[in-house]
Amino acid sequence: MTADVRPLSGPARDGATGVEARAAYDLSREDLAALLVDEPPFRVHQVWDGLHRRALRPAEMTDLPGPLRARLEEVLRPALATATRREADGGDTVKWLWALADGSRVETVLMTYPDRVTVCVSTQAGCAMGCTFCATGQAGFRRHLRTGEIVEQVVAAVREARPRRLSHVVFMGMGEPLANYDRTWAAVERLHGDLGLSARHLTLSTVGLVSGIRRLAGEALPVNLAVSLHAARDDLRDRLVPLNRRYPLAALSAACADYVAASGRRLSLEWALIGGVNDQTRDVEELAAFARPLRAHVNLIPLNPTPGYAVRGTPRAGVAAFARALGDRGVNATVRATRGRDIDAACGQLAASDAPRAAGQVAVTAPGDRAARAAGAVAGARKVR
Ligand code: SAH
Ligand code: SF4
Repeated sequence: MTADVRPLSGPARDGATGVEARAAYDLSREDLAALLVDEPPFRVHQVWDGLHRRALRPAEMTDLPGPLRARLEEVLRPALATATRREADGGDTVKWLWALADGSRVETVLMTYPDRVTVCVSTQAGCAMGCTFCATGQAGFRRHLRTGEIVEQVVAAVREARPRRLSHVVFMGMGEPLANYDRTWAAVERLHGDLGLSARHLTLSTVGLVSGIRRLAGEALPVNLAVSLHAARDDLRDRLVPLNRRYPLAALSAACADYVAASGRRLSLEWALIGGVNDQTRDVEELAAFARPLRAHVNLIPLNPTPGYAVRGTPRAGVAAFARALGDRGVNATVRATRGRDIDAACGQLAASDAPRAAGQVAVTAPGDRAARAAGAVAGARKVR
């Protein structure tokens, strides 16, 4: 049990029910059983299933008796309150900025494509990793998200996506998922076991926390791993990604190789193209040499400008040339297009999903370019500050 949960029928404490309100997705199944101890046993599964697989608010669980429904609606509260909600791409991109109970703000982005519906979720309010080009890194760390706060972002997306079915989750919003390992992994298990999402459709993105990648290799669920590489020589990566000083490229590469061997999943490498910094021939060579032995797929994203970093993204033609040069060296690369730029969009600036599409990968698109999106472009844009 994760907390002191009193039965709904317990002595009056506050409000009409006498039970403290709790964030619905912070409860474990055991907590819910304690809450429903005076109800017939099948109610526990019914409410749990309603919250997770059916993504319902208690008030919408019409298979419950009215009074129980009303009491649960009062007790099982949302953890996320909408601070802003914006749409772009003709409604195909929805971005929320959530206000959490302590005043923290995190974002979630839902992206609808012809063949998939992907949500990008945050795992921390802020981030302690300090990557120089990243708006979240520039803002610093505030706190870890709880498992329930991560799961609830996905539930919000499931509800929003209807009648389409949410198919993919990428952990590429604010924060470093592997620095909040236990809560993030508990969320992964809940998404798989209780929301019914396929592990093959879940992607964790890490800046290269080797200890976390090693733990991941020991987990039973084989999720996709994306590593935000951005530089494949230590002196440059030390500057872009300070964590590289602790876990240099050789250690990262070894951990990635072990993950691929243990999980059987393909690895992807994220590379934000920064004009004049990591988009030269030398960078292609180094990236290809890193990616090839790992049989990794590379996702290229032109850097989105952030206020704290005075360098621009590589121009469109340079991005395409970089992708071709990788191809010439035997490395598959996808150029990720930007989703929702007009709403200052996306989660963690990018939403490269688990796997590139077989065909129709496109160069960077103008905002709202439906044809290009239909061809399979995935997304990225700058995050809320
Ligand atoms: N902390 C994790 C996941 C969140 S960041 C990680 O770093 O992988 C999600 C992705 O956005 C990472 O690949 C990150 O490198 C990328 N990113 C950060 N700032 C960016 C920017 N300004 N432009 C483009 N991509 C950026
Ligand atoms: Fe954190 Fe990822 Fe941003 Fe680096 S890129 S500061 S790890 S959120």
